Parts: sequence; structure tokens; C-alpha cells
Amino acid sequence: MNVQQKSFYLSPEAIKDFKPAGQKPAHPNDLAKPLRTNMQKYNMFVPEQLAGRTFPVACVALEITQRCNLDCTLCYLSDLAEAVKDVPLFELERRIEMIHAHYGDNTNIQITGGDPTLRSIPDLVKIVKLIKSRNMRSALFTNGIKASREMLEAMSEAGLNDVVFHVDLTQERKGFQNEKALNEIRLEYINRAEGLPLRVMFNTTVFENNFNEIPMLVSFFADNADKIDLTSFQLQADTGRGVLRERNEQLITQESVMQQLREGTGLDLNYDFPLIGHSDCNKYTSIMVSGKSRTVLFDDRAFFNRLFDMLAKVGDNWAEPNIVIRKAMLKSVTSPALLWGGMKFWLKKAWALKTGLIRGNGLHRLNLFIHNFMDAEKLECERCETCVFMVATADGPLSMCVHNAKRDQMISQPVRDNSGKVLWNPLPEELHHKNLPIKKLKGILRRQEDFKRQRRT
Ligand code: SF4
Repeated sequence: MNVQQKSFYLSPEAIKDFKPAGQKPAHPNDLAKPLRTNMQKYNMFVPEQLAGRTFPVACVALEITQRCNLDCTLCYLSDLAEAVKDVPLFELERRIEMIHAHYGDNTNIQITGGDPTLRSIPDLVKIVKLIKSRNMRSALFTNGIKASREMLEAMSEAGLNDVVFHVDLTQERKGFQNEKALNEIRLEYINRAEGLPLRVMFNTTVFENNFNEIPMLVSFFADNADKIDLTSFQLQADTGRGVLRERNEQLITQESVMQQLREGTGLDLNYDFPLIGHSDCNKYTSIMVSGKSRTVLFDDRAFFNRLFDMLAKVGDNWAEPNIVIRKAMLKSVTSPALLWGGMKFWLKKAWALKTGLIRGNGLHRLNLFIHNFMDAEKLECERCETCVFMVATADGPLSMCVHNAKRDQMISQPVRDNSGKVLWNPLPEELHHKNLPIKKLKGILRRQEDFKRQRRT
């Protein structure tokens, strides 16, 4: 099928013209307005919708390097990734200020790449401190290979909030044949972060080779819910330099992955509320865990709608979900408007978790997220305009899916001052990928060069 025939996909010209939001916000006194307006435009600003109501953006990626020490088969980075230079600290500081101007206090910033741990510990500490000094939250996104205890300690001391480990079969780690075997690495990473004031999370890319193992994986995460806060499953997308391309649509859909999560948790999970942005992009739910006892958190829509509404009005810090949940628990039994619903809700939960609670296992929450990135040539305008996951570019925030579709263009742009003078050029001529040795090439380029070399010998 010629994808351009589908009118709702952005054409190559429209992708080119889809510009970052600029340095300054359009509505400095109402930062959630741009997202809220777009949600309203597409009739998505329903009572269950948190985007544009309790936050102006879910998170912003700050890509501090394009280099990586792996070569994933579904890598979203582009051909020039290994050729461009790391973003210098002065430019990162400018982007952090720009993120704050657009989204304000408590914004979640993903320190990411490439793999950000390829930068020095002093650089990483400085970046975390810059984010913290603007009263925002930071998360380190890494494959974990270089995220030593020393690095995690230094970053957490500087104010890092979360660490998110990406571990799965797309990384082709030597000696690991399946996801179950990779649990050894996951446990090692959990131990590495143990005792530090960090929320630990895991990312998993879903593709044909690990789809059947999702129930096992989610059960593993639930068994470790006392140490893990969130697990995100990201569906295969045809974008970037990875050698695997389009997903098997017969097998991998939001619905089929939701079903795998239901099977793995043994719970009838509900993804209808709360909503975080476009429902074709994000599915979110949460379970409560006490030892081997588990129950769904969100199963009383009317009660949660009233609760979220109340919390949104008092302007709570939604970037700190644990604090919000604690406050919500308190509010649900102290506010007269919620008292009856709250008592009923918590009694039901306590009953469902009684075995674990009686055994003294404590109460834990595990967030389950499904993120559905779009293929680079199938960007839906509606989803791009209601995007809750932005990238901090030199010219302002831009939807991650749009950024992925024109990565080489975005990452190689020189940074200029107001007069147009070039302050930093990520890609001087001599650094073009054509001049890189084969060992520095990744993804499709690497496979092509390998193929050519084999043919020559
Ligand atoms: S990055 Fe893409 S899939 Fe994710 S919220 Fe934005 S538009 Fe949707």
C-alpha cells in the first residue's frame, strides 16, 4: 500500500514543516493550554484525561549524546548518530531552561541518548544539578552497561529521581537466548540501584521474538514490585537505523499486548482510565501488590474521576506519583465528598490483598505502561498534535515521533544565536558518517557495509 494515499498520514513535506514549538511558550500563564487545546480539538479532553489537565506534558527527552554501546535491532537512532558530537553543556543548559519555560516546575526530563552513560560522571552530575536547580525531575535512561554503582550514587546525590533500564532481546546481548535469561541482568541492575533514593523502572521493546514472553516478564516485574516502580512496553516501530522494520500487525497490537499483561498479572486490567494523551499512543494502568497478592488499582471510574478532579484543582505535583497517591489515599478518607467511595474502595483493596498484607509484605504499586510509537512514514497528524512525549531540540520541544522521522536533519543542525551566528556545529564536514570506520557504523549502514566487504573478499 502506498502510505501517502492515506490522507491522515503526514506527507514528507508536512513532516519537514512540522516545526518545534520555539524557545518561548505561547501561553506563559497557562502552560497546559497548547496540549489541552489540541486534546479538545480532537474531542479527547474527557474527564478521564490527565493530559492538559494535570500536566502540560508527560515527559521531555534531553538527548545528551547520540552515541551508543549497543546496536539494537530496533534502534530509533539515525545514520548520523555515531558521527555527530555530544551536545555541549552550555547548549544542554539552554535546552533545560527552554523546557522549564514551556512546561514549568516538576516536569519529567529524560536524560537519554544514545546511551547517556557514555558521557563522563562529572557531566552527568552537572546535568542532573541543572535540572534540579530549575525545580524539575530527572530520569536516567540507559541500557545499564556503564551505569555503575559509582555513577548511580553520584547522580542520585546530585538529585536524580529515576533510573530507567532498557533490557530486552532486541539488544542481542551475548549469551542470552530469551527474556527469561535476561532476568539475570534485570536483577543485577535492581541490586545496583538498591538503597539509593531512586525509582527503578524498566523498558522493553515488544517484537515477534519476545511477544510470547510478556506474561512471564510482567509476572517477574510484579514479583519485584517492592523495588520496581514502572515497566513500559514499547511496540516495535518502523523508524530509525534498526535492521528490523515493520511490526507483525497480526501479532503485535495495543490490544494483544494489553492481553499479555492481563495474563501475566492474572488480573482483569482496565485501560479505560486514567488516560494519558492519545489512546492510540499510550495505555496506562497500575496494580497494587503485596507479596504474591495483586489487585487492580483503577477499577472505580466515578471515584477516581472525582479524586483526580479534586487533586487537579489543588495543583498537586503530578510528577511525583507516589506523593500524589499518598495524598489521594488520605484525601479519599478525609474529604466528605469522597469519604463513602474512599472507604468502600480501600476496604475492597485490603480484602483483595489480605494474604500478602497479613504476612507483612507491605503495600506496593506497579505502573504498567504501553507506548505505541508510530512508523516514520505513517505519522498521524492527530497523534503528533496531541503528543505528550517531546524531545528538546535546539529550536524548542518537538513530538518524539516527528523527531524520529527526521532525526538526521534534527541532530545535525548547527546551533545559532539570535543574530544567526553558529555557536556549535554538531556535524563538521570531516565527521560525516561516510568518513567513519566500519566499527563505528550501526544498524542498517553497518549491515550494508559488512555485506559490501563480504562481497569484495
Ligand atoms: S511520541 Fe509518538 S506515540 Fe508517543 S505520544 Fe508522541 S505522538 Fe504518540
